[in-house]
Amino acid sequence: MARQFFVGGNFKMNGTKESVKKIIGYLNDSDLPAQVEVVIAPPALYLGLAVEVNTQKTVAIAAQNVFDKDAGAFTGEICPAQVKDLGATWTLTGHSERRTIIKESDEFVANKTKFALEQGLSVILCIGETLEERKAGITLDVCARQLDAASKIISDWTNIVVAYEPVWAIGTGLAATPDDAQETHKAIRAHLATTIGEKQAAEVRILYGGSVNGKNAKEFKDKADVDGFLVGGASLKPEFVDIIKSRL
Ligand code: PEP
Repeated sequence: MARQFFVGGNFKMNGTKESVKKIIGYLNDSDLPAQVEVVIAPPALYLGLAVEVNTQKTVAIAAQNVFDKDAGAFTGEICPAQVKDLGATWTLTGHSERRTIIKESDEFVANKTKFALEQGLSVILCIGETLEERKAGITLDVCARQLDAASKIISDWTNIVVAYEPVWAIGTGLAATPDDAQETHKAIRAHLATTIGEKQAAEVRILYGGSVNGKNAKEFKDKADVDGFLVGGASLKPEFVDIIKSRL
């Protein structure tokens, strides 16, 4: 079963009105392949602007984070309904910067993921091990634990895309090798088959994230379980278009 190639762009806490318009301009001015699904995640403050400026039908807009509750007394948080109100249709959950810096637990990430789905957003659920965990040989245990928190409370994974992002590869220039990524993605899919069922596991897209750029993206081309990328730094640059076109 063919899974549609997917490229996500996470702008993180970068940008201004002008630079967000400029980055989306790179996409608008490009001849993007119709068969690639693209989702970009600017800072929440610019979601409405991104929706207005984007002219590409294959590009959707995502929040980088949402809260696990609806409108109310939750100062500083944003709820899925507000994201949708601005015209965005996706959110990231569980990015490693939120897990490690903001100390979000597996359960909190799972609750946000569940609530976002219930509210009609699609979700890029990020998982991945730290360098210490990799050195300790527990990469798969960590990924399984992070996924299990979600699969315990979410049975329908149709609108979830999993992003495997080893923390040691994010923003470091040290991408996992295509072989290493493939091995881990295959193991993640095998694990998912035991929790969400073989059919859903075969259908769910698993992205690789961590120092992907316009040059190395092509090296993952023949990796059967790498269904696309989640891109940080390079999503702010014109080379993001090369990543989107890396499977052509
Ligand atoms: C990310 O933030 O999800 C990411 C993968 O960052 P980078 O591409 O910069 O490593």
